Amino acid sequence: MSHQKTAITLPSMTPGTARKIVVHRFGQPGARPKIYLQAAIHANELPGAMALHHLMPMLLKADQAGRIAGEIVVVPTVNPIGLSQLVGNNHLGRYDLLGRDNFNRNWLDLSGAVGLSIGTTLGRDAAANVAAIRKSARAALAAMQPMNELQTLRVEIMKLSIDADVVLDLHCDQDAALHLFISRRDWPGAAQALAADIGAQATLYNDPYPAALTFSGVNGALWARLAEQFPAADIPQACLSTTIEYRGQHDVNHALGAADAANLYRFMQRRGAIAGRAGKLPALKAEATPIAGMDVGYCGGTGILVYRVATGAKVRKRQVVCEVIDPSDERGPAARTPIASGSDGVLFARRLDGTLAWPGKVAFRIAGPKPLAHRVGMSGLDD
Ligand SMILES: [Zn+2]
Repeated sequence: MSHQKTAITLPSMTPGTARKIVVHRFGQPGARPKIYLQAAIHANELPGAMALHHLMPMLLKADQAGRIAGEIVVVPTVNPIGLSQLVGNNHLGRYDLLGRDNFNRNWLDLSGAVGLSIGTTLGRDAAANVAAIRKSARAALAAMQPMNELQTLRVEIMKLSIDADVVLDLHCDQDAALHLFISRRDWPGAAQALAADIGAQATLYNDPYPAALTFSGVNGALWARLAEQFPAADIPQACLSTTIEYRGQHDVNHALGAADAANLYRFMQRRGAIAGRAGKLPALKAEATPIAGMDVGYCGGTGILVYRVATGAKVRKRQVVCEVIDPSDERGPAARTPIASGSDGVLFARRLDGTLAWPGKVAFRIAGPKPLAHRVGMSGLDD
């Protein structure tokens, strides 16, 4: 049996408190492929942790039977800082209350350090480049001296993920269909099998990586940024790094958790990390669409947000998706300000009915097939 359960202890930020991150390792250290899974970096997004709750006993059983051919690292709840942020009977897990940082931004872009250290030595041997880049990235992380708890969390977690073949960062939206953020460099190809196996209803690609330093972004962008920087060298996309959005925050139950775990397990079999036949690849539910084709609906004013369209529905351009109702306006329908879709596509994320709208609040996101002029060049958001 090779399963190992360890903990990373983070530096204490206030007298009498200390937090730790539990890490599970299945299979043999150093074996390939290496698959890294984590959930709840946005600490109030727990559907991914539910999927891992159901996945871990399956991995334990496979490990005991000697069926894990690669190495699988699982961090069921990666962010104990966010988990601790209980304020007035609410759990606020998206932003760090100390520095007001979004927990899924400002991860470590190691491409600069790696490029400086070994860039000129990279040549036409792809396998040698992959090994050298991983070694250099690990060395860059080892040399870092984080100053506080959140910085330590970022460095220590990236030590687990940066040399993986597959990185799956499990999130959710407030109310959403299962969707996936990927790099164009992985489509078609590795990400297509993942989207089919997990049943993604929308897959959005960054081309080739997001400008924002998200966790899945930096793990994948290491390869894309170095390939840009050293075009003469053969640098493959050696890590399939994705953000999986497991529906909405309230979509947590045993039926979904068990189904999502079974799908992840089958995907890992298909990748060769676990022995056994993965079986036929399920039919893809949606083709990948560009991030620049993602229509984002914003609230123009304040009031009560109410939807006309269900999550996951196909919508047409100019179709009214939701309304902002001015509660002080006595004129009934005239008090409703509609917000319409800017594209044909799939309504993959929205807010809950009845939440408060304010100017600039994101009301919905639609995965459309064609780049929208006003979205091209915008940050390739994925969280
Ligand atoms: Zn998130």
